[in-house]
Amino acid sequence: MATGIEPRTPQVPGIDHPKVVGYMDAILGRKPIGKRVAIMGAGGIGFDVAELVSHGGVSAALDIDVFAREWGIDFKNHPRGGVTGVEPHVETSGREVTLMQRKTDALGRNLGRTTGWTHRLTLQRRGVKMVAGVDYLKIDDQGLHTLVNGEPRLFDVDTIIVCAGQTSLRKLYDDLQAKGVKTAIVGGAYEAAELDAKRAIDQACRLAAVV
Ligand SMILES: Cc1cc2nc3c(=O)[nH]c(=O)nc-3n(C[C@H](O)[C@H](O)[C@H](O)COP(=O)(O)OP(=O)(O)OC[C@H]3O[C@@H](n4cnc5c(N)ncnc54)[C@H](O)[C@@H]3O)c2cc1C
Repeated sequence: MATGIEPRTPQVPGIDHPKVVGYMDAILGRKPIGKRVAIMGAGGIGFDVAELVSHGGVSAALDIDVFAREWGIDFKNHPRGGVTGVEPHVETSGREVTLMQRKTDALGRNLGRTTGWTHRLTLQRRGVKMVAGVDYLKIDDQGLHTLVNGEPRLFDVDTIIVCAGQTSLRKLYDDLQAKGVKTAIVGGAYEAAELDAKRAIDQACRLAAVV
């Protein structure tokens, strides 16, 4: 069974307010995203969503010239290391985006070792604000009411995107178990704490090898 996960909904008063959008809806474009955005949760998905909503124009992942412009790389003159002399130029969506987390650590500390710095730098260059030590109090027409390091702070935003983790989706597995059907479970359905595609693939391959 590899039914994956379902996003976790944090228990914050007003979480069903129309301003609130789940990360699936944000990624799939199922709900409109306003000009001023708060993102609750700064794990890998929070960072990806911040990149998505702060991004403007053609993606650097699809166009080598945009990539060179965003990273200040001069492919024509080939300076040493390729990166001298050209100022990075980043196009943005024009949204005001704040990425926030409960933990008091620096945001993005647990991102991948080899790519984490690129995600942090990309968001900084797009003017995304990063706030740690946030307690979520309530959501209403004014926005997201919080305590930041104990101090009251209102984020006056149009949209609040929830990226607050996930729980395993194992209903089908539990139903089959209850019926006595021998079933193995892998991937996000087995363990949702750290979304890790490599672990899911590893589990599935090992299972396939012994069955
Ligand atoms: C925005 C985002 C960014 C990510 N970035 C990374 C990353 O950089 N690196 C990384 O390692 N991982 C990343 N992940 C996590 C990675 O996607 C997961 O770890 C991986 O997809 C888990 O695989 P899975 O097969 O367990 O579940 P999934 O890929 O979620 O697949 C589960 C499938 O089961 C289907 N399903 C559910 N219930 C039923 C049912 N009853 N009947 C039939 N089908 C059903 C679902 O529709 C889905 O297609 C990211 C995830 C997201 C959302």
